Amino acid sequence: MHVLVLNCGSSSVKYQLFDMAAESVLAWGLVERIGEPESRAALQVRGADGDAAREVTDDPVPDHAEALERILDALERAGLGGDLVGVGHRVVHGGETFVAPTVIDGQVIAGIKAQVPLAPLHNPANLLGIEVAMAALPEVRQVAVFDTAFHQSLPPRAYRYALPASLYTDYGVRRYGFHGTSHAYVARRAAEHLGRPLEACNLITAHLGNGASVTAIEGGRSVDTSMGLSPLEGLVMGTRSGDLDPAVVFHLMREAGLSADEVERLLNRESGLKGLCGANDLRHIEQRARDGDADATLALEVFCHRLRKYLGAYAAVLGRVDALVFTAGIGENSPTVRAEACRGLAGFGVTLDPGRNDRRADGELLAVHAEGSAVAVLVVPTDEELEIAEQTLACVQG
Ligand code: ADP
Repeated sequence: MHVLVLNCGSSSVKYQLFDMAAESVLAWGLVERIGEPESRAALQVRGADGDAAREVTDDPVPDHAEALERILDALERAGLGGDLVGVGHRVVHGGETFVAPTVIDGQVIAGIKAQVPLAPLHNPANLLGIEVAMAALPEVRQVAVFDTAFHQSLPPRAYRYALPASLYTDYGVRRYGFHGTSHAYVARRAAEHLGRPLEACNLITAHLGNGASVTAIEGGRSVDTSMGLSPLEGLVMGTRSGDLDPAVVFHLMREAGLSADEVERLLNRESGLKGLCGANDLRHIEQRARDGDADATLALEVFCHRLRKYLGAYAAVLGRVDALVFTAGIGENSPTVRAEACRGLAGFGVTLDPGRNDRRADGELLAVHAEGSAVAVLVVPTDEELEIAEQTLACVQG
């Protein structure tokens, strides 16, 4: 029983093929720079001995249909062509229409198209992936798994902005939230670790990668999350500003003469850690801070201060917190960020054990709180592809 997970960007296709019985990855890879002369396909297949056979080709890949053909051909040649029970597509924006993974038909495609104004860069690329996969594998059921779906349980008090009501009804201006598959996955793993049903758990999950978001989970359901209408709101990120006085936007337009598109680019691509210290890779920033670089030190401080504010805010939203969960590149690998984010939160019941915290997850769940900490602090490696595969399987099995 195999499930293929596809994550299509405007010029790339990432894939993983799962054996669902063994929960193992059989093949994975990436076709990138599609349509450019330097396009490249890196396809890997795990052999029976557990070692990966790797194939990298740099023949031009003109379009997404050809990219998928290369992937399916590599799977076929490795003897992995059969047994496919479903294809799971990562879709960024499901708006208010999609609250769960959904088997794709014409109506679902129209529904995803209707959300394009909310995700103009992502949804068209996701749709392209769906179209080429449906054409190449017409007999296999295809499932859309939405980044936003997990957060459709937010109550209006958390998802509405304090704006004229017509902006919500006419333009869909509200908080949607993203990274839903990751928050859902680590929440499930955390509940398993706590030995309680997810429905009985209150959690704060912090997904800290290049993009970063925090979610308050009450009884297993998302009740507040830091990303909003778009992934720009909330935490300081690699290149995104996160929360900002909206007046910054019109101040920049009036005083610096920037257009709306230029401000959008500035806030999405030139801000965050990169804006503060010129770099967005936290490993380099931490090294520079250790070497005494003032900009890198400030960037880390701003990043951790914003994160700590959200942890406190979501502790207040939830009232009782069973576990605080760190995940993604930074959450899994930076003891410094975890320690700084939790500093001073003893009053909220959060106490880290410095020795336990001073480790990397390396694919394993870590409990890093001190003995007697009222709130468990867990490091849970995320696996968005596995979550998409599991949701896809559950969906095709009805
Ligand atoms: P995304 O999938 O959003 O691109 P990731 O989840 O891979 O991002 O996270 C990327 C971030 O994780 C980068 O800032 C990177 O520097 C950071 N990171 C990865 N490994 C380490 C490490 N060992 N120590 C500190 N930060 C790390």
